[in-house]
Amino acid sequence: MDFETYDPVSTLVVPTHKLTKAKYPFIDVHNHQWNMGSGSLDGLVKDMDNLNMKVMVNLSGGYGNSLQKMADNVKSQYPNRFIIFANVNFDAVGAAGWTEKAVKQLEEDVQHGANGLKIFKNLGFSVKDVNGKRVTIDDPRLDAIWDKCGELKIPVIIHTADPEPFWEPMDEHNERWLELKTHPERKRSDTDPAPWETLIEEQHRMFKKHPNTTFIAAHFGWYANNLSKLDSLLTEMPNVVVEFGAVIAELGRQPRAAKAFFTKYQDRIMFGKDSWVPEEYATYFRVLETEDEYFPYHKKYHAFWAMYGMGLPDDILKKVYYKNALRIIPNIDKSLFPN
Ligand SMILES: [Zn+2]
Repeated sequence: MDFETYDPVSTLVVPTHKLTKAKYPFIDVHNHQWNMGSGSLDGLVKDMDNLNMKVMVNLSGGYGNSLQKMADNVKSQYPNRFIIFANVNFDAVGAAGWTEKAVKQLEEDVQHGANGLKIFKNLGFSVKDVNGKRVTIDDPRLDAIWDKCGELKIPVIIHTADPEPFWEPMDEHNERWLELKTHPERKRSDTDPAPWETLIEEQHRMFKKHPNTTFIAAHFGWYANNLSKLDSLLTEMPNVVVEFGAVIAELGRQPRAAKAFFTKYQDRIMFGKDSWVPEEYATYFRVLETEDEYFPYHKKYHAFWAMYGMGLPDDILKKVYYKNALRIIPNIDKSLFPN
């Protein structure tokens, strides 16, 4: 038997509270739906209702025509259950007029119903300009886009780089060995395309350069495993907030430190999940709401360790589940949520 097949059943007997529904209606600010441009949304809304998810923020809105189709389809079926974020077309950065065109596209997308901008990790990883050079996250040719978001009062959610161990040697000491083994394409190095610190620093320089724009650092900015560092970053950058998509396993292994962090930054944390697998939300609810001990996470390659609940009080839960998103993301129907 090898480590991957080793799957011992815990003999620990402690109170358990398996949650299939959030205690309060919530907004998932980090979701991806690529096929919302046509067809019925009934099934999706039914799955959301089962979780108590009142509003889903679809970050994969695209731009132009496809975004407009998506917004129209939502409007005709469930106008107050979905929020759509636009994306930037990074083709031909550096071509004459590229920046002006991108800004104009964004303005149009917002007119057509986008309420935020999502930047995928391809910026920093693979986006190249017309000369074949990597476009850095703080590239000045993008400045006007971030400023426009501030002017339009829409947030920018940005995913930069990936967990730091993806850059480390893939050996017996690497905490993400199992993920790299099952997803070899995720392995990175200092030259593929750049050191982890370089990418993260580019992102932070960009945040600081645009203090009037609200940035949502996706995945806790990849510092969920170093909350004291994230604490100092959030202190330094008041225009930055975070969401915990795909990193709940980091919080669930340090429930006391995480609870202290959530208490301190209760106004700057939003609920995000990322991949749309409805059964997996149970882990998120349980880590946030309960004081359960030593319970399993749903994906071994994210966490071969067990979870502990933070037991957040109701006032903080409400902020994380919906109040912060209502403040940060425009045009969400407030009547769907309690005071
Ligand atoms: Zn995502």
